[in-house]
Amino acid sequence: LPMTVLVLGGAGYIGSHAVDRLIQRGYDVAVVDSLVTGHRAAVNPKARFYEGDVRDKVFLNDVFDRETIEGVIHFAAFSIVPESMQAPLKYFDNNTAGMVTLLEVMTQHQVKRIVFSSTAATYGEPKQIPIRETDPQVPTNPYGESKLMMEKIMHWADEAYGIKFIALRYFNVAGAKEDGSIGEDHHPETHLIPIILQVAAGERQELAIFGDDYPTKDGTNVRDYVHVVDLVDAHILALTYLKDNNVSDAFNLGSSTGFSNLEILEAARRVTGKAIPAKMAPRRAGDPSTLIAASDKAREVLNWQPQFDNVDDIIRTAWNWKQKHPAGYADVQKA
Ligand code: NAD
Ligand code: UDP
Repeated sequence: LPMTVLVLGGAGYIGSHAVDRLIQRGYDVAVVDSLVTGHRAAVNPKARFYEGDVRDKVFLNDVFDRETIEGVIHFAAFSIVPESMQAPLKYFDNNTAGMVTLLEVMTQHQVKRIVFSSTAATYGEPKQIPIRETDPQVPTNPYGESKLMMEKIMHWADEAYGIKFIALRYFNVAGAKEDGSIGEDHHPETHLIPIILQVAAGERQELAIFGDDYPTKDGTNVRDYVHVVDLVDAHILALTYLKDNNVSDAFNLGSSTGFSNLEILEAARRVTGKAIPAKMAPRRAGDPSTLIAASDKAREVLNWQPQFDNVDDIIRTAWNWKQKHPAGYADVQKA
């Protein structure tokens, strides 16, 4: 039997790019996804697909029985900050409780490696920029808290059962596969770049920029953008690192460069050639002023070498996906 990488949440935006990249690199891949926010058509047809919920222990046990799993990459979670403020228990149930079930099943099947989607939201409002992995983690919303709890649960599962984990703390993920065959398709869409591209495509009248009175260069929030394909490559490096070194660790994944929301808007105007009307709007609750990663640790320890180093190129790949599939996966033929 082939040794298989199990990707939980592999039908989602980032997970589908990970599955695709793993298959390109010759890995055997199985996917678990409930399709609660993901798309069946996003999953590379060479992966075996199991539709079901991570919290369903009977289902998950069955998947682990059928497959010979050497490592797990866990993307399956809810991730909308404002929703988590309104419905915190939904987040602790799906994200945090889902992790408990997953680790129980991994323990039972002697699967000892997990690469995990963590987030800059675990740091909360940073005291210093750029943010280092050793900085305090004090989340300001239930989404970030649910992910921090998942990191801590993995730590204690490592102590007790020897399950080794790599927590990858993503900053702002954007872009799409270069050929435009897979990309970001969320309902509702809440992320800045896809919303800007909806305006560029004429699907929305204008962009609302949430706040222009932050202590930044132009008053709008500053974020650190990383291309989705560069991001998923770090997961493959992390799996290899776990196999070679058998130690748990955490890494920031970002570009170490900050762009203000206005700079992103200007870049999107350049890339699309569209006017993209925008207006200033009140602050969005829970937004830190500036989030920039120190990501030299991932470069040094994992030998991560991101290929995209400018935000125009990142936006160009998202625009390519958008133009090829104006209605997202509703426009993608099922394989
Ligand atoms: P997404 O919603 O597109 O993907 C999540 C996938 O997980 C979906 O396919 C969904 O159907 C599935 N899923 C959710 N709960 C499940 C469950 N209980 N059982 C089975 N499947 C389930 O989100 P994304 O943007 O691809 O994010 C992936 C991961 O990365 C998330 O864990 C998120 O917290 C993390 N993250 C994302 C960003 C970002 O900028 N997009 C930033 C930081 C962290
Ligand atoms: N943003 C905005 N208008 C929108 C969506 C987002 O001004 O319609 C801002 C948001 O307030 C933040 C930045 O864009 O300053 C990035 O937000 P996003 O939700 O994409 O990612 P986050 O940084 O919250 O993870």
